[in-house]
Amino acid sequence: MPFVEIKNVGYSYPSGDDDYIEALSGVSVNIERGEFVALVGCNGSGKSTLARLCNGLILPDDGEVLVDGNSTADKNALYDIRKKIGVVFQNPDNQMVTTIVEDDVAFGPENLGLPPEEIRARVDWALQSVGMSEYAQSGPFRLSGGQKQRVAIAGVLAIKPELMILDEATGMLDPDGRREVLDVVTKLHRDEGMGVLMITHFMEEAALADRIIILNKGKIVADGTKELFNNPEVFTQAGLDLPLPVRVAAKLRARGFDIGYPLDIDGFVDCAARAFGKKDGGGA
Ligand code: ADP
Ligand code: MG
Repeated sequence: MPFVEIKNVGYSYPSGDDDYIEALSGVSVNIERGEFVALVGCNGSGKSTLARLCNGLILPDDGEVLVDGNSTADKNALYDIRKKIGVVFQNPDNQMVTTIVEDDVAFGPENLGLPPEEIRARVDWALQSVGMSEYAQSGPFRLSGGQKQRVAIAGVLAIKPELMILDEATGMLDPDGRREVLDVVTKLHRDEGMGVLMITHFMEEAALADRIIILNKGKIVADGTKELFNNPEVFTQAGLDLPLPVRVAAKLRARGFDIGYPLDIDGFVDCAARAFGKKDGGGA
């Protein structure tokens, strides 16, 4: 059984008197336990709507969303679903609900009604997992954007979800902050087996995932590995860029260089080293 099953889902927002905006239509997709999936699409393509449908924040107009076999429309299952799927949002400043980092991370487990020693253990573990232990007693104002997002991730982690959805969680961060957050997320996936659904419009970030799903105007237009980058049309038609290494390689091929089809920076460096005849440059 897939962990998340999205079955022929449609969703519209009311707009004005009798009008509505169709945000998603005919969307069917499964997410397996422990998968690392990137969900990409330009602004307004329906990514956040899909994220909200996954953890039952909104219910589909058509079709069905099942989490671990339970429908998000089943009120009795919702509490459980929200424990299984945690969401980290875009704005690092809107996510802290208390004034001390560790209280904030404890908020989720406290709401689960866990015993104090279990809460303590989870908070310590979560803060350590995101590299923020030394800030346990800090207030949010002392933290950078990347650090605040790492605290938000710790707060979700403390609930021990099976899937973490990051809805453009790096979108407001500077490059260092983005890197911090991505490092934490890839580590949690690799070492803890946590499932990740990373919503992003940075294609270099999407390249970190095992699978990329492209949304365009409320429909899924592609679903595959980063080999998808070899079909530039599906990205350009969806209003998306390709990752820089992929674009540079295409330009070099057009100039007649036999650079191959690298899909990320490491791949590009390997291909370039081969193409330009130097086996080992002896480091950077
Ligand atoms: P994305 O996250 O990819 O930018 P969204 O899921 O936020 O896309 O939005 C999909 C569509 O639904 C857009 O046309 C957007 O304007 C519309 N929409 C999103 N949220 C609301 C809302 N709360 N009320 C009305 N329309 C909305
Ligand atoms: Mg969005």
